[in-house]
Amino acid sequence: MTNTTLMSIPGQIDPVPVARDITPRADGRVDLIGLPKARIAELFEEAGLGTRQAKLRSKQVFHWLYHRGVTDFDAMTDIAKTMRPWLAERFVIGRPEVVEAQHSTDGTRKWLLRTADGHDFEMVFIPDADRGTLCVSSQVGCTLNCTFCHTGTMRLVRNLTPGEIVGQVMLARDALGEWPKGNMKFDFGADLDDAEDEGHYTSDGRLLTNIVMMGMGEPLYNFDNVKGALQLVMDGDGLALSKRRITLSTSGVVPMMDRCGEEIGVNLAVSLHAVTKDIRDEIVPLNRKYGIEELLQACADYPGASNARRITFEYVMLKDKNDSDDHARELVRLLKTYKLPAKVNLIPFNPWPGANYECSTPKRIKRFSDIVFEGGISAPVRTPRGRDIDAACGQLKTAAEKKSRAERDREAAEAAQG
Ligand code: SAH
Ligand code: SF4
Repeated sequence: MTNTTLMSIPGQIDPVPVARDITPRADGRVDLIGLPKARIAELFEEAGLGTRQAKLRSKQVFHWLYHRGVTDFDAMTDIAKTMRPWLAERFVIGRPEVVEAQHSTDGTRKWLLRTADGHDFEMVFIPDADRGTLCVSSQVGCTLNCTFCHTGTMRLVRNLTPGEIVGQVMLARDALGEWPKGNMKFDFGADLDDAEDEGHYTSDGRLLTNIVMMGMGEPLYNFDNVKGALQLVMDGDGLALSKRRITLSTSGVVPMMDRCGEEIGVNLAVSLHAVTKDIRDEIVPLNRKYGIEELLQACADYPGASNARRITFEYVMLKDKNDSDDHARELVRLLKTYKLPAKVNLIPFNPWPGANYECSTPKRIKRFSDIVFEGGISAPVRTPRGRDIDAACGQLKTAAEKKSRAERDREAAEAAQG
């Protein structure tokens, strides 16, 4: 068990246990995964290397960790043989533990993962003809209790650390066998910043091309850790995925949206799901705190959004709840009023045991989509993927104890008051 420390997560009144940034292991070694290069250099210096050595070694190690995916210091062939055991005595290269790996009949893959302190969470890989999308979790559970979402019924909530978040991407690369191979010729000559990297690769022909922060949890309630992890994912010397291939989905944490655009710079998706106050208050309780107008204004102000980089509005299709012709027309009106460079993603509701909703009929979904299209906004219907292994949107939930209905209602009210 690793150490945890108490920290409150917005939306939750009682503090919940959250792992510290750098979690010392029982054996005293430090896990390097999740740390920025500069922090690795500091740790090497604290462990006794001179400043220049520490910088050089951190650059080499960083490259091996994030670009080549090695999990053993011994594989770092351009680091002196005597130095490798020195590293292994002080540091480890962690990965979340894989508890179970499942394969859907449609090719979707789901992994049940476990943190070092024993919390379970999930990640999902969705292959398509022209791309492969990894759906990454940001928290164990979620405090926000959207009424149609299975994740919101989990009792325990804990922020994932940067290492646990970036570790999902690394595990996926492990599982898909997608680390660049070949001879890494690194010239660590006089100028450290000009080191040539022949191991560089592009996304061409890869299975894992896109990342969506759409797994368990609300990423903007774990901003710093999500930011730290995504910076490693986007770092050209790291996992080297373009910010254009990364999408962060939020249920509408308005005060953090600007920072998300400025400091992370990824594409934005917003879980809108309803166009009237009454209905959104009910199904996305955070709406009681940040209403639709405020949310759409924050979208209009989102740094980097343009017609070339549209904001995705997710809309779950719930039978007789939010799926009428009037709702579709109001959706078009709202998106136009705020002049949003928008596309709408219609998500057929994915059922889970005990859910109080049904999915709208295919005919209804088609009609809704047509109205939005006729209004000039693209509104494709997202084909559910991985339903047979509970990997589809909103089905993620680990075996952690369930919250009671009363608890969920109370937490939803707290989330709204903040
Ligand atoms: N917490 C963030 C990230 C999760 S993204 C957010 O809510 O945006 C997962 C997406 O799936 C969200 O749009 C969510 O609203 C949607 N979703 C949740 N439960 C669902 C269900 N049962 N069926 C279909 N979509 C669902
Ligand atoms: Fe949390 Fe998103 Fe599920 Fe709402 S839809 S409970 S914000 S994970």
